[in-house]
Amino acid sequence: MQQAIHHLDMPAIQYTVWLADLHGHRFHVKLRIENPNPDGQQLQMPAWIPGSYLIRDFSKHIESIKAYEVSSPTDSLPLERIDNDQWLLPKVSGPVEVLTTVYAFDSSVRAAFLNNERAFFNASSLCLSAQGQEDLPCALILIPPNDSYASGWSVQTGLRSVKLDSQGYGFYLAKNYDDLLDHPVAFGDFQLAQWQVNGVPHTMAVQGCLHPINLQRIAKDLQAICACTIALFEPQTQQAPFQSYLFLVNAVLSGYGGLEHRNSTALLCKRDQIPQLNVPLDEASYREFLGLCSHEYFHAWLVKRIQPTAFQPYQLERRNHTRLLWLFEGFTSYYDELQLFRSQRIDLKSYLKLVANNWNTVLRGPGRHKQSVADSSFDAWTKYYQVNENTPNAVVSYYGKGALLALGLDLKIREFTHNRQSLDDLMRLIWDRHGRTHMGIAEDGLDMLILELLGNGFTQTWNRFKSLYIFGVEDIPLQKWFDPRIVLVKTKLPSRLERNKLQLGLRYSEAQGWLKLTHVLDGGALQVAGLAPGDLLASINGQRVTAMSLDRIVGTLTEGKPFVMCFYRDDLEQECMAVLAPHQLPIQYELLPAE
Ligand SMILES: [Zn+2]
Repeated sequence: MQQAIHHLDMPAIQYTVWLADLHGHRFHVKLRIENPNPDGQQLQMPAWIPGSYLIRDFSKHIESIKAYEVSSPTDSLPLERIDNDQWLLPKVSGPVEVLTTVYAFDSSVRAAFLNNERAFFNASSLCLSAQGQEDLPCALILIPPNDSYASGWSVQTGLRSVKLDSQGYGFYLAKNYDDLLDHPVAFGDFQLAQWQVNGVPHTMAVQGCLHPINLQRIAKDLQAICACTIALFEPQTQQAPFQSYLFLVNAVLSGYGGLEHRNSTALLCKRDQIPQLNVPLDEASYREFLGLCSHEYFHAWLVKRIQPTAFQPYQLERRNHTRLLWLFEGFTSYYDELQLFRSQRIDLKSYLKLVANNWNTVLRGPGRHKQSVADSSFDAWTKYYQVNENTPNAVVSYYGKGALLALGLDLKIREFTHNRQSLDDLMRLIWDRHGRTHMGIAEDGLDMLILELLGNGFTQTWNRFKSLYIFGVEDIPLQKWFDPRIVLVKTKLPSRLERNKLQLGLRYSEAQGWLKLTHVLDGGALQVAGLAPGDLLASINGQRVTAMSLDRIVGTLTEGKPFVMCFYRDDLEQECMAVLAPHQLPIQYELLPAE
């Protein structure tokens, strides 16, 4: 280990991080507490990371922990275990240091990772909090790795820097523990795209691409999207609420996701979603990547600054419940695509196709009639984030249906005000009351804002909207709400194959040449016939079924005409009869520009 830099004006809480073992995937972390609680300092590891609503118990990756008084570094202090993620130091009179070794091999955006190609961490995976001192400023000291693999690496983070070397190692400062957790840090080789929006520098730092990236194209597209989102919230000043913004992108063979922060985001995408020179680009998958960027950027306003009171402050040792994730995630999902259209990255036809895709996906989920988006938000911790074979039958996505709610509310506001106002005005009002002020929004906080924006005349519409579509499980009748002068709604006529597959109600994976059912949808022909998740579907009407042959065989089925299926359950062969019925077909829509 290399000794950390120390000087007198260091904050009272200091974290030093060593990329200690690239091959065993271990960080070493030292927490120095200048003024530990004289009655016994408690230490706590977060159980979850804000933005990802699942108890993850990050303490499980702590391999070793020891503590000592700075005045006596060779005498270990006894650490009392209070819980799996809580420790208690004995009474001491001077500064203490706590050393941990943390295993880090989770390549998602939510945790920590270290190997001989790159490193990444969220402080929630590495840094214990000193209980009672979370509001104090804290230093983060990053020590350059002593490993030839990492000699050329640099550091990327949105955290405020104080004193760095040319590669970005050195001394960073966080306002408090929460601020420390809100700034992921990445190490490795990066390609950088840079642009400005009204004087605010934006950077995208990409690692994992083998070829030179078309940085100009990325900068041009992201510049347009970011400018559009700033203009939505601040039409007058066009000023972003941060001094800089960083997109940290890890491009891999397969993987997708993002996590939002106040002035940065960590993204995971496929390599072929990034435009690279001399590499063919699938435009649709690049658009999907732009949508992900747009989504996480929007969160810098909605959920990182406009927050539910339930998140103020985050209670990192336990679940934090809100019934409003349909607002924070759903409205963000609505705008992530809308901003692509408004910034002219996609045309109206493509935009409407994205909207219809989401609408149809929601309409295909039987769970939408069992769970409201308010309940889906509250139960995100145990349901949406813990998917199982019954999830589509029992859970509605607060992302998907939440985006439809935003669209529906937008259409209702436009109708009510004869297009003088829109959902944008509501977003600006929410921003004004809860974002700029950082006053949390109460669970029923939208009621007052909607009343203020639209007056009593809209109250009945809003109350009905809430009880049917937010707290109720009704489908949102968007087909009746679009303005036909702008958008045409058509019932989608699926092909025979699409129709038959929808009526079967199956989701599957391929397992060693077999077609294994992962989900059997409520009311579908397979469930009626007695098939269950885990069954291996072997044949239909005597023809062997595989992932390759499924479409060809299913395409020959006729509604109302019974067919025979053979399947294996627990290695025993079974046979059953099934039939496709008209009521098994969920309604699907198409959206087109009126002209
Ligand atoms: Zn989100």
